[in-house]
Amino acid sequence: MYTRIDGKEVSAAVRENIKNEVSALKAQGITPGLAVIIVGNDPASRVYVNNKKKGCEQVGMNSFEYALPEETTTEELLELIEKLNNDADVHGILCQLPVPEHIDEEKVLNAISPDKDVDAFHPVNCGKVMTGDYRFAPCTPAGMVEMLKHYNIDIAGKHCVIIGRSNIVGKPMAMLMLKHNATVTVCHSRTQNLAEIAKQADILVAAVGRPKFVTADIVKDGAVVLDVGINRMADGKLCGDVDFDAVCEKTSYITPVPGGVGPMTITMLLKNTLEAAK
Ligand code: NDP
Repeated sequence: MYTRIDGKEVSAAVRENIKNEVSALKAQGITPGLAVIIVGNDPASRVYVNNKKKGCEQVGMNSFEYALPEETTTEELLELIEKLNNDADVHGILCQLPVPEHIDEEKVLNAISPDKDVDAFHPVNCGKVMTGDYRFAPCTPAGMVEMLKHYNIDIAGKHCVIIGRSNIVGKPMAMLMLKHNATVTVCHSRTQNLAEIAKQADILVAAVGRPKFVTADIVKDGAVVLDVGINRMADGKLCGDVDFDAVCEKTSYITPVPGGVGPMTITMLLKNTLEAAK
C-alpha cells in the first residue's frame, strides 16, 4: 500500500500558516507585496501569473501586475525592475519566464535585488543555496522538501537520486537534500547506467520533462517518488515524468500529476514573499 502525497492538502496547510503570519504583519502596518512582471502574450505564462495573483489574494498579500507588450526592450525592463527594487511596498519581484527571445534574460534576473528575489534565481541567492545559508530557497525544490516534512518522511541518511540538473529544479534540489543530510546523486542525459542508479534511490526525484520516463523497473521497492514533470499530452491532459499507474504500487509515497509538486511551487513563492517582507 502506498500513500499518495496530496500537494493541494500540504499547500493549503502551508498557506494557512502564511495567512496567519500576514495578518500579524498587517497589524504592524506591513502588507507583504509581490510584483509580477509578464512580457508578451504567452498563454501558459498568463495562467501562471493569474494563479500567483490569486495566491497573493488568498493569503492577504498585495500583488502588483506589470503586463508589458511583446516588443518591450531589455532596457525598459531593467528600468522597471530598478523602480521596483526601490519601492518600499514591493517585497518580492518576479519576472515570469520565458521572456521573449530578444530580451536578455540573464541581465533581467541579475537586476532583481537579491533581497526581493523570491524565485531565488539571482546568482547571490543561488550561491547561498549552495552554502546552505539561504533565506529564499527556489520554490519547486523547497515545495518538495515541505511535502516530505508534512508526511514525516525522513531525509537524513537516505539516498536521494535526482533525474535532471536544471538550475531551477535539479541542482537546487540536490543542495536542499544535502542540507537535510541525504546522500545525493544527480543524473542527466549523459548519465550511464541511469536505471541502476535510480533503482538505488530511497527518494527518487524526476525532473526530466519527458512523460512517463520513470518506469516501474527503475524504482526500488518502498521508494518515495516525487514527480516534478509537467508534460502536456496530445489529448490536452497533463502527464508527469513518472508512469504513475505502473510505479505507484512499488512506492511507499508518490506524488501525482497534477495535484502533487505543482501546487506547492506558488505556495513557496508566497512563503518567500512573506520572508522578504519580514
Ligand atoms: P530542463 O529541460 O531544464 O531539464 C531537464 C533535465 O532532464 C536536464 O538536466 C536533462 O539533462 C535531463 N534529461 C533530459 N532527457 C534525459 C534523459 N533521456 N535521461 C536523463 N536525463 C535527461 O527542465 P526543468 O528542470 O526546468 O523541468 C523539468 C520538468 O519539470 C518539466 O516537465 C517542467 O515542465 C517541470 N517543472 C515543473 C514545475 C512545477 O512547479 N511542478 C516547476 C519547474 C519545472 P541534460 O542537462 O544533460 O540536458
